[in-house]
Amino acid sequence: MILKGVLFDLDGTLGDHDASVAAALAAWLPSIGMASDEATIRAWEEITERHLVAWRRREISYAEQRRRRLEEFLGVRHDPDEADAIFAGYLAHYDTGYRACPDAVAAVDEAAGAGLAVAVLTNGSAVQQRGKLRRIGLSHIAQVFTPDDLGVAKPDPEAFRLACGRWGIEPGSVLSVGDNHAFDVLAAREAGLRAVHLDRSGSGPVEEMCRISTLGALDAYL
Ligand SMILES: [Mg+2]
Repeated sequence: MILKGVLFDLDGTLGDHDASVAAALAAWLPSIGMASDEATIRAWEEITERHLVAWRRREISYAEQRRRRLEEFLGVRHDPDEADAIFAGYLAHYDTGYRACPDAVAAVDEAAGAGLAVAVLTNGSAVQQRGKLRRIGLSHIAQVFTPDDLGVAKPDPEAFRLACGRWGIEPGSVLSVGDNHAFDVLAAREAGLRAVHLDRSGSGPVEEMCRISTLGALDAYL
C-alpha cells in the first residue's frame, strides 16, 4: 500500500515535554514551599504516570487525574476547586514553557512537502494539546486526535483505528511516528499502521528495526 499520511505523536516527539516539565517544576515548586531537587522531581514524575494510567483507562477524568496527582504529591487532600487552583500554577509554567523539539517543524514540513497528509494522535486533553501545537508553530495541523474526541487512549490500538477512520485514510497507508515504543509503535502496528520509533535517548529496544534518533532521519520512511 502506498504511504498517504504521517501520524505524529506530540509530547516527546514534536514538543519537548520533558524540558517543559523540568522548567515548570523548577519555577513552581519553590512557589508552593517545596524544593526543586532531583528526588522531588522524580516523585512528581512517578506519581504523574500512576494517575495517567487510570485516566487512559477512562476510569477517571483528566481533571480528576490532576487532582489525584496533586493530593498524592502534597500528601494533603484539597477540595476540587482548591486543587485545581494549585495545579494551575504548575500548568501555567508548563504551558508557557512548552517548546518544539528542534527537528519538529522541519519534519512536518518535509512530510507535507512529500505530498503526505499530516495529523497528530496524542494522549492529552484536546484543548491543552491544541494549545501546545499553536505555541510551537504547528497549528496548521488540522487533524488532531485525542482521547477526548476518540474515547480511547494509546496504547489501545483502537485509538489508531478510530483516528485513521476519522482521518479517512486506511491504516496500512499511515506511518505512526512517536517516542514511546509501546504506545506509538507496537500499538500502531497492532492496528495495521506502519510505525517508526523515535528513540531520541537511544534507550529503546535494540531489536526494533524501524528506529531513528532524530526526526531529521524520518525522510528514509516517507
Ligand atoms: Mg510521546
